[in-house]
Amino acid sequence: MHSKDVELSVWCPQCKTDGLLTIPEAMLDEPHYVLCPACGGETAQVWCATCGMGGQLFDNVAERPDAWRCGECKSEYPLPADFYDKPVEFVVLPASDLINKLGKTLIIAISAIVILSMIFSSLASFF
Ligand SMILES: [Zn+2]
Ligand SMILES: [Zn+2]
Repeated sequence: MHSKDVELSVWCPQCKTDGLLTIPEAMLDEPHYVLCPACGGETAQVWCATCGMGGQLFDNVAERPDAWRCGECKSEYPLPADFYDKPVEFVVLPASDLINKLGKTLIIAISAIVILSMIFSSLASFF
């Protein structure tokens, strides 16, 4: 079976660089030790199965903890023994790419507003 890749937006807590992390969809719920290609800053991409939160949910990665605790629901998850042996680097997001994405988001937001107002006006004509 062909495994799809998923792109996650991450950022470096050290140099504040925004980036994209590509992870195979099948490995999405596994914790990932993430390195910043710009400064070597350490972060982690994790997923909380209890509250469904995903992202860079803990910030003491540089201290090499062997478990992480979800800030939202306080669930604690052990990290695999080889967690720090398998770093993944994110790709720095070019500024132009970011503007491009922001532009797309804006277009989506505007069309959502237009669609919503169309729905509301058609509802209003019913009453
Ligand atoms: Zn960095
Ligand atoms: Zn949680």
